[in-house]
Amino acid sequence: MNPRTWFRKKIDTLVSDEYLLGVEEQRWRSNLIFLMTFVLILSLLMAPVYYFNRYTMDLIAVLITAGVSVVCLFLLHCMKRHEWPLYLFAVYLTFYSMFLMLFGSSAGFSVLWVLAYPLAVCFFLGNRFAQPYLTILIASILILFSPLFDQWRTARYSLNFRLQFPIIFVAFSCLAMVVEHVHQRTGRKLVDMAKRFSASANQDQLTGLSNRRAFYDVIEREKARERRHRSGLQLIMCDIDWFKAINDRFGHQYGDRFLIHVARLFKSGLRSEDYCFRWGGEEFLIVLPNTTVEGAVMVAERLRSAMATTPLADKHFGPISATMSFGVHPFSMAQTVDENVAQADRCLYRAKQNGRNRIEHDTAEEPPPETLKDQ
Ligand code: GH3
Ligand code: MG
Ligand code: MG
Repeated sequence: MNPRTWFRKKIDTLVSDEYLLGVEEQRWRSNLIFLMTFVLILSLLMAPVYYFNRYTMDLIAVLITAGVSVVCLFLLHCMKRHEWPLYLFAVYLTFYSMFLMLFGSSAGFSVLWVLAYPLAVCFFLGNRFAQPYLTILIASILILFSPLFDQWRTARYSLNFRLQFPIIFVAFSCLAMVVEHVHQRTGRKLVDMAKRFSASANQDQLTGLSNRRAFYDVIEREKARERRHRSGLQLIMCDIDWFKAINDRFGHQYGDRFLIHVARLFKSGLRSEDYCFRWGGEEFLIVLPNTTVEGAVMVAERLRSAMATTPLADKHFGPISATMSFGVHPFSMAQTVDENVAQADRCLYRAKQNGRNRIEHDTAEEPPPETLKDQ
């Protein structure tokens, strides 16, 4: 991969949706890579400046920083988990800032870099890491700038500087943490909203079942699984018999209640790994992963019999039941999703043609289709 593509990819991961939405867990790794690369480049840029100004101590420190950044980047590359490189980097930067405070070049020139830490740490790694880290840094700034360390410190700071620096650092830390907190809270709200929108876009309002749109996502996933495991994937298309008559006799509202009743029966009659979609008006599509065609016919039979024997009780009209017809089709990898659905629909049509309240199914080897004897 050429460096330009690599860099663009890194920037993309940094400014990814997860990052912008503040999803902490997912952004750590790419942020760490970015932060360490940034420190590495900065150190290499600063090295000649220190060299020409004869700031020997700063030059040594900045070269060690570049080395540590490279080591941490390498560890991050080798390790699956990011914790150890992060801790190593954090411990090193803490010592580096202490070193700058004690032995940095005169008039606080080097130690001013430490003011960039709160912003960088909060922004790249989030408050969970920044809070303890900045607390340690604040404590060490207070101790190292105190008169206790006067005899050790070769860097000479005015009293004003020693008073102002900790105050500015604490102010920067608080500001960065507040901004990061707001950023994360907004991010979480956006994620929640996006989840709710996506759930409602994939759900049928009336029955609470998944809708046709959700089916296409699910079937792609299940197809991939079936390709790996070859354990059988079945489609069952089903439709309420003479539903129009129910609507006409009892009203549309009652029809709606009946659809909810069917959805409830289906949900309780299926395994947790099965899927049931409201395909259209009073048509439902069931997807059964890890199931043979015989298994799917048994499931359809269980649902058919539950429908026929479980009426919906109503105060005005008493108990009302309806039957359902089912078409079972084993999903074929040789066909498209829509062709498979059309096959299941054809089986359902046969069930309707052959008298309703029954199941028709294709065999796993495709044609010729067989008929399950009506009971
Ligand atoms: P068949 O046994 O051939 O399936 O007969 P059917 O009467 O069920 O078939 P048809 O497709 O002619 O009728 C379906 C009816 O379902 C027509 C439509 O008014 C009704 N329907 C579709 N969606 C809804 C809905 O959301 N609520 C209600 N109450 N009725 C609906
Ligand atoms: Mg119908
Ligand atoms: Mg219909």
